Amino acid sequence: MKRQDEPDRSESDAALRTRALESLLVEKGLLATDTINKVVEKYEKDVGPLNGARVVARAWSDPDYKRRLLANGTAAIAELGFAGREGAEIVVLENTSTVHNVVVCTLCSCYPWPVLGLPPGWYKSYAYRSRLVREPRAVLREFDLHLPDSVEVRVWDSNSDLRYMVLPERPEGTEDLTEEALVPLVTRDAMIGAARIDSPSE
Ligand code: FE
Repeated sequence: MKRQDEPDRSESDAALRTRALESLLVEKGLLATDTINKVVEKYEKDVGPLNGARVVARAWSDPDYKRRLLANGTAAIAELGFAGREGAEIVVLENTSTVHNVVVCTLCSCYPWPVLGLPPGWYKSYAYRSRLVREPRAVLREFDLHLPDSVEVRVWDSNSDLRYMVLPERPEGTEDLTEEALVPLVTRDAMIGAARIDSPSE
């Protein structure tokens, strides 16, 4: 699987169908075009993985928050003000030195929008969706993530009712960093489970 977004025939069919559906809804007076535009603009510009990075940095800095986050992701994420569309039920999975969680939506592209924004192209690709469940280690290697056999890999299938987010392992050498200083270390791919977070000294 290539990391870059490849032209994907099913993808363009989906885009076409979406556009057709949109014009139909607008034509029938069920939806206003500016409503659609506002939603797209909001998730393209205002809501993105920085929200998730704040959640992760808080969990790394505050053990009580981390406990709440793993017990009830949606509620703990809402404590930081992140909630809404495509985020009714978010479950947070903790990555450790022995367990690596990685998220996919095998059916389409379900993704926790309030914390991660819109999904990247590769997350929606047929290759990722079909292969991750079958051969997660091989797919992760293509993301340049080489996990030793001793690490257990768990694949989680997001759906429209329940979406997963990964709490990456806090890298070594960050013990002295404040919560604010931890935020920029957290990457989108690590919160999907397609990457780990390197120690800043590496
Ligand atoms: Fe989906």
